[in-house]
Amino acid sequence: MLVIPTAIPMKVELECEACGHHQPYLVPTPPCPHCGHDWVEARYDYESVRTLWPAILEQRPFTMWRYRELLPLRDDAYQITLGEGGTPLLRARNLSMMLGTPNLFIKDERQNPTNSFKDRQAALVISMLKEANLTEFIVASTGNVAISYSAYSSHAGIKLWTFLPSLVPPEKMREIAIYGSEVVKVTATYDATKKVAARFSHHKGIAKGRGIRDVGTRESMKTLAFEVAEQLAAHLGPPQPGIPWRAPDWYIQAVSGGMGPIGFWKGYCELYQMGLVDRIPKLAIIQASGCAPMVHSFQKGLSEAEPVTDPHTQVITIATGDPGPAYSYLYKVIKEHGGAFEEVTDEETFRALHVLAKMEGISMEAAAAAAFAGLFRLLSKGIIKRDETVVVNCSGHTFPVEKFLLGRDWLKVLPGTLATTPLPTPARPKSTAENLLGALDQIDARVQRIVIVEDNPDAARLLRRILQTRGDFQISEAHTGPEGLALIRALHPDMVLLDMMMPDMDGFAVLDHLKADEELKDIPIIVITAKELTLQERKRLQGQIQILLQKGTFMDEDLLEGINALLGKEEGETA
Ligand SMILES: *Cc1c(COP(=O)(O)O)cnc(C)c1O
Ligand SMILES: [Zn+2]
Repeated sequence: MLVIPTAIPMKVELECEACGHHQPYLVPTPPCPHCGHDWVEARYDYESVRTLWPAILEQRPFTMWRYRELLPLRDDAYQITLGEGGTPLLRARNLSMMLGTPNLFIKDERQNPTNSFKDRQAALVISMLKEANLTEFIVASTGNVAISYSAYSSHAGIKLWTFLPSLVPPEKMREIAIYGSEVVKVTATYDATKKVAARFSHHKGIAKGRGIRDVGTRESMKTLAFEVAEQLAAHLGPPQPGIPWRAPDWYIQAVSGGMGPIGFWKGYCELYQMGLVDRIPKLAIIQASGCAPMVHSFQKGLSEAEPVTDPHTQVITIATGDPGPAYSYLYKVIKEHGGAFEEVTDEETFRALHVLAKMEGISMEAAAAAAFAGLFRLLSKGIIKRDETVVVNCSGHTFPVEKFLLGRDWLKVLPGTLATTPLPTPARPKSTAENLLGALDQIDARVQRIVIVEDNPDAARLLRRILQTRGDFQISEAHTGPEGLALIRALHPDMVLLDMMMPDMDGFAVLDHLKADEELKDIPIIVITAKELTLQERKRLQGQIQILLQKGTFMDEDLLEGINALLGKEEGETA
């Protein structure tokens, strides 16, 4: 049996990309306190990692977490994993023969838990949120981030709000809903949807993912580079004596926000700095012609992106019109190091999708196929040479959830800038801002306060999770009796979930205190016990509590039904 050494936590600091100012590592990622620049980089102790890695890596399994010394999670106890990363690097034998490119490889990112490479991002970011003790989070997404973050949030016991442009296919929306996330469809473009999500975040005081500006999103994608470097060395041998790992000549990816190539680039820069590879690959950034702000801005020689306000592509996953600072970063990389921005039509993308399925047995979603269409173009233009080593990211193939599993009320629709049907003139015209805030308020209206008093953190997480997925409750947790009492006194909740078996002050004692307090004695109590109660204990609870549930024997419906009844809701209202 292998003994896997526990991770040695490495020092990580945040460095401002503009002024070089260093600040301590923080979640969510703050801007630079010195100059206000909104792009800071995680920096590690590379020399120590270089000495540690050879011996440690030999004993670790092939998952993305084997590189955890260069990931910004401090404590492995917070690691949320569903088995992401460690995907195969496949040799594209038939395609290689067809194209005359002997060293063509496919990084098969479909083989992640939710079938896209977003799972790397979700695993790290959700772990970081967990470590930072956040219990709710907001993301705007073109689909796959929302799916992936939903799965990991569910696992972590974090409530996720997802904001999606209306063009995201309903199958993907259902996939998000099945994990218990809130699904808010905004009738607008992705860029406008991000703004709605930002206002919601501000309004509710819940942190929101800031995409490329968050350190975790970029850092997670470095693991693609680390894996490819090791896998390519296994395929082709080390490049020269003393240099163990290998770099391809090209990394090709279909791009929307640019997380993948930016993380991949940083990963290889770190490997190069540590002397583990002999060079850094060129990036090929592929976008859909109908929404190719990076490609078109580069053609015009712009160092800042000109946003596309009216995307025209069926490849919704990569329809980001405003890439913001990601473009400026990639512009600089490709100007200084070589590489390519290339566009492909939807027709080319769907043709590539067929070719890969028929020639290599790899079926993928259109966004992934766009990268292969890009490969074909760059080869025919002579930008990629046929003897060069190429890695294409087969970024995903999301299989949507069975459509009959969901009830009716899982989707909220907010007005945005895209009117799907002509709107009648309202009797009392309001500004869109008012409309929007009104709509946000409606989402907010159902909040009810619940306190969980439970000493077992796993049980507390389970209870929190059941509540989160079934309504918009404001949930607070206490892990001891005295802490619970203090919390109940401070919050005056609408309900208390109380564990009976706790060390020091047990649930019976908490109950006695509550019942003796004029102000608190009427708060409904649901008691959750780990064991069968004795007759005497049952007698003690009689008349004092509303519901008694035994752990391991109740389904979440039992709990929810009880709660709804106590809060005086119509059945189904919170489902
Ligand atoms: C998100 C996504 C992309 C684009 O990735 P970025 O690096 O964030 O631009 C490509 N393909 C699939 C399947 C994706 O989910
Ligand atoms: Zn700065």
